[in-house]
Amino acid sequence: MKILTLNSGSSSIKYQLFQMEEETVLTGGLVERIGLDESRVVHRLYGKDTPRKLVREIPIPNHEKGLEVIADLLVDPAHGAIDHTSEVEAVGHRVVHGGEHFSDTTLIDEEVLKTIRRLIPLAPLHNPHNLRGIEVAMKIFPEARQVAVFDTAFHQTLPPEAYRYAIPNHYYEKHGVRVYGFHGTSHHYVSKMAAKYLGKAPGETNLLTIHLGNGASITAVRAGESVDTSMGFSPLPGLMMGTRSGDIDPAVIFFMQKALGMDIDTIDALLNRESGFLGMTGSSDLRDILEKYKKGDRNAALALSLYTYRIKKYIGAYFAVLGRVDALVFTAGVGENSPYVRWHACEGLDALGISLDRQKNENPGDGITEIQSHRSRVKVLVIPTDEELEIARQVRSLIGSKRLL
Ligand code: ADP
Repeated sequence: MKILTLNSGSSSIKYQLFQMEEETVLTGGLVERIGLDESRVVHRLYGKDTPRKLVREIPIPNHEKGLEVIADLLVDPAHGAIDHTSEVEAVGHRVVHGGEHFSDTTLIDEEVLKTIRRLIPLAPLHNPHNLRGIEVAMKIFPEARQVAVFDTAFHQTLPPEAYRYAIPNHYYEKHGVRVYGFHGTSHHYVSKMAAKYLGKAPGETNLLTIHLGNGASITAVRAGESVDTSMGFSPLPGLMMGTRSGDIDPAVIFFMQKALGMDIDTIDALLNRESGFLGMTGSSDLRDILEKYKKGDRNAALALSLYTYRIKKYIGAYFAVLGRVDALVFTAGVGENSPYVRWHACEGLDALGISLDRQKNENPGDGITEIQSHRSRVKVLVIPTDEELEIARQVRSLIGSKRLL
């Protein structure tokens, strides 16, 4: 069974074609700068040897053309992996916001499309592009089943005390103002991998999954289900991120508007795109910030302290939520690659039974690794996330179960 995963953003489409029997990636890549100058596609063909990479700079005015280029590459005799697009049995689409309607992976039909469209006000920056990707894929892969995998779905198990805000009920009941949570596909994937690694059923496993990429969030997982998460109504709150502020007193927004005369779109851009590491240091990439820190840059030092302090604070809070924690899981670009961040986020948590081994933390090796010290009661794992594989697995499982019906 061949499954194609698609992640359609405002100016990009990421794709991977999986052979599901072996769970191997046949080809994959990225179409970027759609609708802009210098658009291009970076395509990789995986085989027994090192992957072959192809870069083509061609005008890609819209998503339709982008997906046509992808389809052509998939069947290209020299660079593709299939003879005909009809070999793609299903297309799994990453959809950022599923609201309260979708607590699971869902086969797409007209009703589902309508609901995703209705949810646009909740995710104006993401859902329109996800939707566009689905509509175009329906044309280009007409034989394939189209499936939506929602970033919010894993968090639909949050209890009301975790998902409601303390504002009049009307805003929730009429307008859907509540915590939704994001990065669900990644938290779900690493939590299942962690349970498997620990030799336990997901239903017996309590975890703190810490996803640190450009966006960052931490989730409390009880018995395999998300029970609290640091992002909220939008992906803005919680941990400090590459360009987002994370938690901030909403009164700062009133102050900026009333006392500083800033309009709401400017404040929105400030908190979502010009804050976090970028706002504090001038760079959003942790590698640059660590370099600056090594050279004695005081802003970089402060930003790193704030970043790791926030993670630690959430570890403490979610430890209290869960009561018993089997493992902490670090994942995504920063979580998988930064010993500095892992060390400082866990420093001083001995009282919670959490301590790292300096050597193991510095050189965790490949795959799933343990980095806690011998006296740590809680295991601390580094697990590479794979959102595309999780999407493909969920699609396989859904269409497998639909076959039996
Ligand atoms: P995205 O949210 O875009 O998927 P990623 O999960 O790829 O992001 O994470 C991107 C972040 O990971 C960047 O801040 C980058 O600096 C950081 N990162 C990647 N590799 C390393 C590394 N070796 N050391 C420290 N940080 C790293």
